[in-house]
Amino acid sequence: MAGRPRTRDKCSVEGCDSPHRAKGYCTGHYARKRAGLKMDGPIARRPGGPPAKQVGCAVDGCDREHYGRGLCVNHYNQDRRRRMQNVEGEPE
Ligand SMILES: [Zn+2]
Ligand SMILES: [Zn+2]
Repeated sequence: MAGRPRTRDKCSVEGCDSPHRAKGYCTGHYARKRAGLKMDGPIARRPGGPPAKQVGCAVDGCDREHYGRGLCVNHYNQDRRRRMQNVEGEPE
C-alpha cells in the first residue's frame, strides 16, 4: 500500500479536510471563492444555532443573554411586571 497521494476528493485549501465539492474546493471554500472572500482559515462550522449576533441585556452591568425588548429574561420580566403594576395602580 503506497501512501495515498493528494486526492481530489478533498478541498485543496491547506488545513481543510472537507470533502471536495467543485473546482478543488469544498462547499464552504467554493462558496467563499465565489463570494470573493478570503480563503485562509478553516470554515467555521456552526453547530446549527443562531449566529452570535445577539446583543446582551441593555441594562448596565447585566451581561445576561438577550431575551426580548433588548433585555435579558430577568429584566424583561421585571420591566413587564412594572408596566402591569403601573396600569393596575393607576387611580381612577
Ligand atoms: Zn475547504
Ligand atoms: Zn439584564
